[in-house]
Amino acid sequence: MAFYADLHIHSKYSRATSRNCDLEHLSLWARKKGIAIVGTGDFTHPAWQAELKEKLVPAEPGLFRLRPDLERFVEERLPAACRSGGTTTRFMLSVEISTIYKKLDRTRKIHHLIYTPDFQAMERVTASLDRIGNIKSDGRPILGLDSRHLLEITLESDPGSYLVPAHIWTPWFAALGSKSGFDAIDDCYGDLAPHIFAVETGLSSAPPMNWRVSSLDRFRLVSNSDAHSPEKLGREVCVFDTDLDYFALRRALETGEGYAGTLEFFPELCLQPSYVESPLLLSVFVTEFSSFSLHKSSPHIPYLSFGTWPVPLDSPCWHPYQT
Ligand SMILES: [Zn+2]
Ligand SMILES: [Zn+2]
Repeated sequence: MAFYADLHIHSKYSRATSRNCDLEHLSLWARKKGIAIVGTGDFTHPAWQAELKEKLVPAEPGLFRLRPDLERFVEERLPAACRSGGTTTRFMLSVEISTIYKKLDRTRKIHHLIYTPDFQAMERVTASLDRIGNIKSDGRPILGLDSRHLLEITLESDPGSYLVPAHIWTPWFAALGSKSGFDAIDDCYGDLAPHIFAVETGLSSAPPMNWRVSSLDRFRLVSNSDAHSPEKLGREVCVFDTDLDYFALRRALETGEGYAGTLEFFPELCLQPSYVESPLLLSVFVTEFSSFSLHKSSPHIPYLSFGTWPVPLDSPCWHPYQT
């Protein structure tokens, strides 16, 4: 089954986020935009974690959905066209961690995305990070630990947990950032680097820019919205063709099989926020299937016009930039 997943977002407990960034509104906007799976973001924050445990119930392996009464709440607020035939939103436990530390005489500031398949693994990651620094004041905590150590904590939490370096080219806050990062993913995560199988291009870079760096060839390229309000969901998304299943999705990123790529907008436009909202200024990069290696990159292609788009868009109201 082909679907869209937006796996980097923030809750109302991260700095500079909307008060509406709760599970109900995230689900509502995901349904409006045809996004099947949304990352919860911020799972190390105690209040958000409590909300996740109270409002989410297990769905398919490694995935969660809202409690039935909350799903009804969302359903009642959806436009009629979005109600029929759509599966309700699935959530994947996720968090972004900002690490700051010195290595080889330089200060490194790097953002990472962590995913876990269940609450127990989420709690193990949280407990380990709680011993290192303050995870209570920000949904995206800033902690003084080495990237390799963070990856180790992730891997030890559960065999299914994984880490994706976030928006890897952001100059001040990324694994390959020119001001704060490294020259290669391997240098950042050391001997544990083989456990990294995907990297996030982020809003400010697109797959062709990453294809020019041969050390990135072995990684799947993902991208997400990094939304700070529910309305911004889907600014960029990943396209999967797997079962709705955390482990299938993880396997698709590991092997490339079942991973179709990303939907992206022009990276230069992320410097001009007013353009980011336009439904017309989008490009599509199908990064993994060579037979689908079309580059729809004209600024005048409306989102819904991809007649040759290989992924059936089964949402009745897919319109990612509808506000
Ligand atoms: Zn970040
Ligand atoms: Zn973020």
